[in-house]
Amino acid sequence: MKTIIVIGGGVGGIVTANELSSQIGGDHKIILIEKNKEHSFAPSFLWLMNGDRNEKQIRVPLKSLLKKNIEIVNATVSEIVPAEKTVKTGDKEYRYDFLVIALGADLAPEKIQGWDNSVHTFYTLEGASKLHHALNNFSGGKVALVISSMPYKCPGAPHEGAMLIEDFLKSKGIREKVEISLFTPEPQPLPVAGPELGNAVKSILDQKGIQFYPSMQLGSVDTTSKQLFFNGKEPFDYDLLIVIPPHQAPEVIRQSDFVNANGWIDVNPQTLETKHENVFAIGDIASIPLPGRWFPDKPMMLPKAGVFAHLQSDVVAKNIVRKIKGEKADEKFCADGYCMLEAGEDLAGFAYGDFFGEPHPQVHLKQIGWKWHIGKVLFEKWWLSPISLKKEFYKNLLKTGGKLIGIPVKL
Ligand SMILES: Cc1cc2nc3c(=O)[nH]c(=O)nc-3n(C[C@H](O)[C@H](O)[C@H](O)COP(=O)(O)OP(=O)(O)OC[C@H]3O[C@@H](n4cnc5c(N)ncnc54)[C@H](O)[C@@H]3O)c2cc1C
Repeated sequence: MKTIIVIGGGVGGIVTANELSSQIGGDHKIILIEKNKEHSFAPSFLWLMNGDRNEKQIRVPLKSLLKKNIEIVNATVSEIVPAEKTVKTGDKEYRYDFLVIALGADLAPEKIQGWDNSVHTFYTLEGASKLHHALNNFSGGKVALVISSMPYKCPGAPHEGAMLIEDFLKSKGIREKVEISLFTPEPQPLPVAGPELGNAVKSILDQKGIQFYPSMQLGSVDTTSKQLFFNGKEPFDYDLLIVIPPHQAPEVIRQSDFVNANGWIDVNPQTLETKHENVFAIGDIASIPLPGRWFPDKPMMLPKAGVFAHLQSDVVAKNIVRKIKGEKADEKFCADGYCMLEAGEDLAGFAYGDFFGEPHPQVHLKQIGWKWHIGKVLFEKWWLSPISLKKEFYKNLLKTGGKLIGIPVKL
């Protein structure tokens, strides 16, 4: 009997453990180590921010999402020792034959000079709730939304956030009293997705009167005078500040020999294998360069997105099973990704395409409409539903919804 340990029970960890369980559960041991007992669905933080959801609606017990023959360990991983094939959590030690690292990305707002608790973010559950109250109490002025550095999770999310805030303030009847600005160090919106999507998103932002400022690297914040300082640019005054904080690998990885020069884990882009035998890294923690994309002088990375964590989990689980069975582990990851991009007014666009496309990613945007918004809601409902109900209860709902929006739903 082999032991497969999955560390991190977010999107990638959940899908990997369930996929392994479907294929070899019972015959082999599957252990999932996760520090939180509850799972929150990050894409819904945007709806928490604009009041379409409350915290309870988007947070469920982790256990409810996992198949029965997965052993769940509720602990923080403190060390990985590939030479001994062990993972440590405080004083406990677990031995593995195969290890899947799915620890995601941590937020490090404290890295922003001048940051304090008055600076908002919708990148956490608590942050999105707090921002909702702030938006409710906002009576007008300058809203600044700042992408502080790259890489960051879900390249669409800051733009979706800006559009949902615009919609929220419009429905509050104060849109004309508000100026909304989105700042980013990037040269265009979503450069990781290529020029076509970037131009499409820019034109939607323009239509909504959201000012877009590219090539703006945040230097520091003064929360007393309410000013933003961008490197080499004039200071910018704000009334409400929302920041996408810097991201970093969790401490256990930063202190390990897995970490690369950019602070993440190098993997084989097709198999997600790390430099250590039978150890894989998937999702936000993995570092995969995009062919031909540089910024400014470093290669751009495949976006940190749930859709890729999900696809990579399938590849890794299949290859582990094949290795255990003595078969050729030849399943390969290809970066065909998609995202329903929320645009406010219960409308969304559908971005899809090849992120490994050359000479740059080939990601397109389908016409904004209500169908894609419904698609995103359906996906949320499916993801958060208990594992025991997922297949039966949502089969028809998803099939109907899938037909409606023109995507064949595979369960
Ligand atoms: C506002 C927002 C909107 C988003 N919208 C989308 C979207 O529309 N589409 C999309 O594809 N993606 C979206 N994303 C991105 C998506 O949520 C992430 O890319 C995805 O969750 C990554 O999966 P992961 O498994 O790599 O990491 P995570 O899902 O973050 O899971 C990592 C897990 O590891 C655990 N962990 C960390 N350190 C330890 C430790 N030392 N010991 C034990 N456990 C540990 C964490 O608690 C966490 O549960 C969005 C993200 C945000 C913030």
